[in-house]
Order: sequence, then C-alpha cells, then structure tokens
Amino acid sequence: METPSIPQPEVGASFRAAMRRIASTVTIVTASDESRRHGMTMTAVSSLSMEPPSMIVCVNQSTFLHDILQSARGFCVNVLRHDHAAVSTAFSGKATPEERFLTGDWERNAHGIDFLSDAQANIFCRKVAAVPFGTHTIFIGTAVHVRLNEAASPLLYRNAAYC
Ligand SMILES: Cc1cc2nc3c(=O)[nH]c(=O)nc-3n(C[C@H](O)[C@H](O)[C@H](O)COP(=O)(O)OP(=O)(O)OC[C@H]3O[C@@H](n4cnc5c(N)ncnc54)[C@H](O)[C@@H]3O)c2cc1C
Repeated sequence: METPSIPQPEVGASFRAAMRRIASTVTIVTASDESRRHGMTMTAVSSLSMEPPSMIVCVNQSTFLHDILQSARGFCVNVLRHDHAAVSTAFSGKATPEERFLTGDWERNAHGIDFLSDAQANIFCRKVAAVPFGTHTIFIGTAVHVRLNEAASPLLYRNAAYC
C-alpha cells in the first residue's frame, strides 16, 4: 500500500493513540528568571547528544513555563522516582507556582534554579537554543551539572496513567 503524502483526517486521533503506547519517564522541568519561577510536569524530554552533553525539552507555547524559558538562562530536568506521582500531579494542573512547590522536597541552587532533592537525577542545563515548531518550542540545553541519587527506578507514564 502507498504511503499517503497528505495526513489522513483521522491521523491525529491514531497518532495520539500510538503515543499512549509509549511509556515515558516523567520529569519536572524547572526554570526561573529575575523575578519568577515555575515548574511543569513533562515527558517530551530527551537527551540530544553526548558531545556536548545536551538535552531537548518540548514546551507548549501557551504555558507559563514557556514564558519563563524564553528569558531564563537555564533550566533543570528533575527525573522523577516511582513514588513521585503526587509531585507530578501537583506540577501538571492549574495550581500557582508557589502552590506547586509545596509538594515535594525542593531546594534552590546558587543560580536560583529549584531542584527536587530526592529526584533520581537533576540535570542542570544552560539554554543554548530555542526552535519553534507548531504549538511547541524545542528548548536545547547543554548540561552543566548533574546530581544523581541511588538506583534508577523511574516514574513512568503510559496510556494516560502512571505505571
Ligand atoms: C505526564 C504528563 C506529561 C506532560 N508532558 C508535557 C510536555 O512534555 N510538554 C508540555 O508542554 N506539557 C506537558 N504536559 C502538560 C503540562 O504539565 C501542563 O499543561 C502544565 O502544568 C501546564 O503548564 P503551566 O504550568 O506552564 O500552565 P499554565 O496553565 O500556563 O499555568 C499554570 C498556573 O501558573 C500560574 N501562572 C500562569 N501564568 C502566570 C503568570 N504570568 N504569572 C504568575 N503565575 C502564572 C497560574 O496560577 C496558572 O494557573 C504533561 C502533563 C502530564 C500529566
């Protein structure tokens, strides 16, 4: 069968269904600028390269985090543990930034970036590029510092649920 060059009308629904079949590690990406801070639950996060060590985070342009990331110098990818579902929920709803940071064991580094101290890993990145695409922007960061906790045991999201 020939591959259609124009997306079929139903491709959006089937694409969404296909994405639900991919298990992803849940992260909270945090960032701050001169006067504001925020954190948002994200799965569209990936390593980009080892040389240099770098990551991408894909952020919806309608979000407050997007607003902050445009002026922030860096961000932190907090990789959640299997028992962090409540923290993930707190950072994916409509709560204000200050309400969000009440859930979880948060600390702040010397550069003013909040990090979850008992996350599996905290990857501190310097923002080096921002590439808009459709509704989202792909922010690229080079890793400048990494904190690691004990054995890997990630919080996974699949089929619209934690697993
Ligand atoms: C498992 C999972 C994975 C996800 N992965 C992704 C992903 O990869 N990429 C993605 O883009 N989304 C993702 N989301 C969705 C995302 O987590 C939520 O949409 C998110 O919480 C909303 O973003 P926000 O916090 O910036 O929201 P907003 O709705 O923009 O803001 C939330 C709250 O922040 C406060 N606020 C907003 N604007 C301001 C302002 N100017 N000044 C002060 N306070 C303000 C308000 O209190 C507001 O209610 C995911 C969600 C889940 C559950």
